[in-house]
Amino acid sequence: MIPDPRPGARILIVEDEPEFADLLALWVERHGWRPRVARDGAAAIVAFEAEEPDLVLLDLSLPRLSGWHVIERIRAASLVPILLVTARDGEQDKIRGLGAGADDYVTKPLSFPELMARIEAVLRRADIRAAAIAGDEIHHPGLVIDGRGHRVAADGVEIHLTPTEYRLLRHLAERPGRVVGHAELLTAIWGAGYRDDIHLLRVTIRNLRAKLAEAAPDRRFLETSYGIGYRFRPGEEPASDA
Ligand code: CA
Repeated sequence: MIPDPRPGARILIVEDEPEFADLLALWVERHGWRPRVARDGAAAIVAFEAEEPDLVLLDLSLPRLSGWHVIERIRAASLVPILLVTARDGEQDKIRGLGAGADDYVTKPLSFPELMARIEAVLRRADIRAAAIAGDEIHHPGLVIDGRGHRVAADGVEIHLTPTEYRLLRHLAERPGRVVGHAELLTAIWGAGYRDDIHLLRVTIRNLRAKLAEAAPDRRFLETSYGIGYRFRPGEEPASDA
């Protein structure tokens, strides 16, 4: 078996069905991670603040405080990976969950081996993220963002961004691999009053892409997730057919 990323990682399991929660904890433990179970949304927030987990496995339908509120509360304070557990027919929940800041989702009924693989993948992505960010600088293949002086270089070519474009690129590059929702981007970059102005976001993304492409025509840093948001692609190498 391939060694798991981050042995000993703390996994906060938020699940109200006791037997299912115990089973999840058992699988997590067998995988070399440290589980901690919270049985409702309010307990999840308390456990999150007390333990600073490395990943949150979150059931959406919870008593006391819904999964949505849990995501919101956690995202207001932290970039910790969140893996959602959604109902089989919850297509809207998946889209809304990714838009709200979840990293990925799995669907009930669960395949436990698949769930473990997803946890590994999300932890690995978090490791890439941690490695990419050093102080004020962000390094990805082909892209350097230097916070001091707001300098950005793509494939070694310095590019000149407006302050808004800079903040947008930085927000995405700090979250490689995660689809960041329209509302999160608009709120973070422009403010809460702009959270529905998708046109503004689209235009800014277009300009940003054009500048990046001029410096590094073979790369595609920013991916569109239709109806949800945008994703920075980590470790993207130049396309061979370009
Ligand atoms: Ca539930």
